[in-house]
Amino acid sequence: MQKKLLLITLLLLHIYSAKAQKEYYFPEETFSNDIPSPYSYLGYHVGEWHTRYDRLVGYFQLLADKSDMAELITIGYTNQLRPLVVLVISKKENISNLEYIRTNHLKLVDPTLPMPDVSGMPAIVNLAYSVHGNEPSGGEASILTAYWLLASQSDLAKEIRNNAVVMIDPAINPDGRDRHTNWANMHKGTPPVADPLDREHNEIWPSGRVNHYWFDLNRDWLPLAQVELQSKIAWYHTWYPNVVGDFHEMGTNATYFFEPTKPFGSENPVIPRKNYEEINNKFAAYFAKALDDIGSLYWTKEVFDNSYPGYGSTYPDIQGGLGLVFEQASSRGHIQSSQRGDITFQFTIRNQLKTSIATMEAGVKEREYMHKYLREYFQTAITEAGKDKAKGYVFGDETDESRNRLFLKLLLDHKIKVLENDKDIISEGKSFKKGKSWIVPSSQPQYRMVRTMFEKVTTFSDSVFYDASSWTMALAYGMPYATQTIVSGKEIKELPSQTLTFPADGKYVAYMVDWSDYFAPKFLHHLQSAGVHVEVTAQTFTSNTDQGSKEFPAGSLVIPTAFQKLSQEELRKALKEAAVLAGQNVFASTTGFSLKGIDLGSGSISAIQKPKVLMLVGQGTSQYEAGEIWHLMDTKVGMPMTKVDLSMFGRVNLFDYTTLILTSGNYSSISPSQIAHLKDWLSRGGTIISMRSASQWLQSQGIVQEEFVTAEEAKGPESVPFADSRNLSGAQEIGGSIYLGKLDTTHPLGFGYKNSEIPVYRNTTLFFKPSKNKSQTPVRYSANPLLGGYVSPANLEKIKQSSSVLVSKVSQGRVIHFIDNPNFRGTWFGTNKLFFNAIFFGNKM
Ligand SMILES: [Zn+2]
Repeated sequence: MQKKLLLITLLLLHIYSAKAQKEYYFPEETFSNDIPSPYSYLGYHVGEWHTRYDRLVGYFQLLADKSDMAELITIGYTNQLRPLVVLVISKKENISNLEYIRTNHLKLVDPTLPMPDVSGMPAIVNLAYSVHGNEPSGGEASILTAYWLLASQSDLAKEIRNNAVVMIDPAINPDGRDRHTNWANMHKGTPPVADPLDREHNEIWPSGRVNHYWFDLNRDWLPLAQVELQSKIAWYHTWYPNVVGDFHEMGTNATYFFEPTKPFGSENPVIPRKNYEEINNKFAAYFAKALDDIGSLYWTKEVFDNSYPGYGSTYPDIQGGLGLVFEQASSRGHIQSSQRGDITFQFTIRNQLKTSIATMEAGVKEREYMHKYLREYFQTAITEAGKDKAKGYVFGDETDESRNRLFLKLLLDHKIKVLENDKDIISEGKSFKKGKSWIVPSSQPQYRMVRTMFEKVTTFSDSVFYDASSWTMALAYGMPYATQTIVSGKEIKELPSQTLTFPADGKYVAYMVDWSDYFAPKFLHHLQSAGVHVEVTAQTFTSNTDQGSKEFPAGSLVIPTAFQKLSQEELRKALKEAAVLAGQNVFASTTGFSLKGIDLGSGSISAIQKPKVLMLVGQGTSQYEAGEIWHLMDTKVGMPMTKVDLSMFGRVNLFDYTTLILTSGNYSSISPSQIAHLKDWLSRGGTIISMRSASQWLQSQGIVQEEFVTAEEAKGPESVPFADSRNLSGAQEIGGSIYLGKLDTTHPLGFGYKNSEIPVYRNTTLFFKPSKNKSQTPVRYSANPLLGGYVSPANLEKIKQSSSVLVSKVSQGRVIHFIDNPNFRGTWFGTNKLFFNAIFFGNKM
């Protein structure tokens, strides 16, 4: 009897809470019973717990199984092998006809095809959530949005099902989202604690914001350094959505933000004004109404940057669609106090749900308009290209096939048309070899992406940048390029095949590999791992090789057949494996007597020590920089690297390692005894690779003695109204801009570079003077260094007097200071080799 009563009470409670939940999210809706509710699958109401990604996908799979209006597709996998899924929802006829809808929609993207009749074409709406894993309300809202769209009997839901194909991407960053999900759930109290200081609201390092490699995926839509965005962009170009919603969270004390963003200052120069001035306002009316209906406050037109093409809300704008950023004040956890009272997780989810529905509604109501805009966008791209002085660009580095291929791949991934170059060209004083360079015509539908890749922008309508102010990808890849007036050649559709050179069986004195290729470090690492003894030349020589006379510049690898622990056969096997793996050409010589320059037994050729690298990570260090280095060593070299938490540094014996990496950060927690150990190890031959502000710490501890630039500040205004103070301080920052560096190609840090001009990426206001040791500043700046982006005149003066990379000799050891970040966002292929050189040749500096 008692048991029965309890059951009835529980049942009543359950009905009551289900009703309360429905009233909170959907007060006036009637739902079909054929579609399972989130509660029936999850066993809790959306917002009561953070939903694990596998359960989120599980619910989507259930919807696809139960409904003929839904289909679940897998577009890729994360680093931790979570599936990246898209739930497609539309009326039954559309779901069974998706391929026809898709190919018909793609006709809009190609202005050479006749314009299709758009009146019957559904809107393609992509709702993409939780690209920042610790901004979880989006992913939860995706559950409710999918349920509403499939189950609601309302006229609006029917209209959307009939006139749109909705593609729901529950989390662009599932690995990071689960990191945060587990964090929030494992600290949830009963009752939950709203105090912002509670552990639930303060994640440890690395935060859920970033992916497996600690990358911010909302910066990766342009670089495509990460698997998540590689999959997403490949999928994107199969659909070219009309509208893309990108759902974020911001500080707990804020309200809600939707576009339009700040006029001019935070807009991208290649995007048509119509997008900002007309379309954004059209859509904003829907979002305002949706939030007004539930009395939620919001703001528009202030801050939030919309210019960098690597954002999920900007890239669609450069693809003829409308990208929309939404920002919800975060409860970061289940409930958190704010200046306006407690913010619940449910509250944040409801706002995202309402704007999700409004995005679909606007997409459907403005359907024909958006289809016509999509066509117009690609048509005007060609008209605008016709007015551009640059009819195209020629690019290619004849010494680095791998870097050419990486850049070609980036262009092809973004659907940019590329032509083969079948003649030797000299343009703007640079020469481009036939077969080793390519041409990108301006006149093509992706003209605006062509500009994004090649154009250098140095004038701006604003001086405050939320992020980068320059993103010229050709410079990031260190790619020689020039404008072209005549563009012709055969279009390439895929990466050209690669043919490698390897010496025939024979008796050789040594094998040789040029260090100029991007993947040469991968080759070296695999040889060293196989136990091969490898040497490097500090001077150029010309050898009589199996392929004839060949010059080997400084940095080239020499593998003598003597002094090896491996048999000749084993050595060849190791060489071949490494060459195939890294795509390297191997040469061999039967004599140590060179045709020109030093001989193979010269003192300028020395053994390469196998590096053993330790990087300090964890609270206090930069998760982005550390992630960039980890990703670089994993994916570009394949070298294991020990990551030690800063709090564990006291247990490290540095003498077990050759190299210590310090990223930007706060190292004040390192104890005096560990600093003494560090100094001892350094002075006995250790190598420290120090990034940006870590160099400041080394300086403050007296470990290095360098000097800062102390240029007089430019005279600013006497006083500034308080309301403008934020803008003034923003203008003094260096938000991310590109400079021309001067590289000493004879320095071990410059090995593998033929050109002394090197673009570098700077986003710091740290100015180190060149080293007093005249030969230890491998990268300084050219006389007029600014290549792209915003910098204040005072900062530009300081840059001219400072250095980009310098080396401090400390007794037998050295510190290599990278004041500019050579690995920025996994996309600075042009400067990565400086970093590789620091790893492999550090002890030669
Ligand atoms: Zn975000």
